[in-house]
Amino acid sequence: MKALEKIKQLVGKFSIDPKEAQQIVCHVLKIEKVQLYTRNPEITSDEEQTMNFFVERRLKREPLQYILGECFFYNLKIKVGPGVLIPRQETEILVDEVLKSKNLIAHTGQRILDLCTGSGCIALAIGKNIPEFQIFGIDISEKAIKYAAENKVLNNVKNVFFLVGDLFNPFKEKIFSCITANPPYVKTGQIHELQPEIKNYEPLEALNGGIDGLIFYRKILDGAKKYLLKNGLIFLEIGAGQADEICAYALMRGFEVSNVVKDLAGIQRVMILKNSKADETQI
Ligand code: GLN
Repeated sequence: MKALEKIKQLVGKFSIDPKEAQQIVCHVLKIEKVQLYTRNPEITSDEEQTMNFFVERRLKREPLQYILGECFFYNLKIKVGPGVLIPRQETEILVDEVLKSKNLIAHTGQRILDLCTGSGCIALAIGKNIPEFQIFGIDISEKAIKYAAENKVLNNVKNVFFLVGDLFNPFKEKIFSCITANPPYVKTGQIHELQPEIKNYEPLEALNGGIDGLIFYRKILDGAKKYLLKNGLIFLEIGAGQADEICAYALMRGFEVSNVVKDLAGIQRVMILKNSKADETQI
């Protein structure tokens, strides 16, 4: 069977999304999309078996990214699998905002702390684009850090360092000019409403933000002043409808809200805070 015919079969017979069918076929054949049409190669029976196995898994609602073992984030190839959250497109907005603020961050120092780093996608995308900065990615999950470390090698990023840790605990001093985080922010009671791909396969600990979804924002904002330099910035990805409460908490903790950026769906998605008021212990 030829590649294009196989795609047709996956879409027609198994109702696989056409784009996903294309991705499965290209991945197994190790070809780019354009080659499907220019070459339309013949598929061996081994290759067809692998494709069928992938489709079986997909029909059980396993995320395609886990099946293929990779996805793309900010032009980087990111390895993923059970135990690590799949990078979301919205999270690219956070990276965009950090890159836009590059000069401000450079002005206060050149060290960024990426909390709840997961696959390392945020840290690596920043590191790749700002080679003169040092980025530290922290996650409590050893599995996630293993993926992150592999992704560092895969993308040949030298200035990013991954550590297992509980939020700030691997660090002691006020050394960061910027903190980034996409923490778990789904309310515990709403996890069952997520689509099966997420709730049945992705790590619960990367999704569960506690009863009100805000546990990690409070922890991050409680600790941030101790680790952030004066005028340092915080970039947080936030969930739908969480902006007001997080804003209020940030103000209470002495941060200034610089901006809240919406995603393509019009949802307030990235909050940017500034450590403009130094406390007495600030250096
Ligand atoms: N955006 C994720 C979702 O699909 C949640 C990720 C997170 O909690 N940080 O719901």
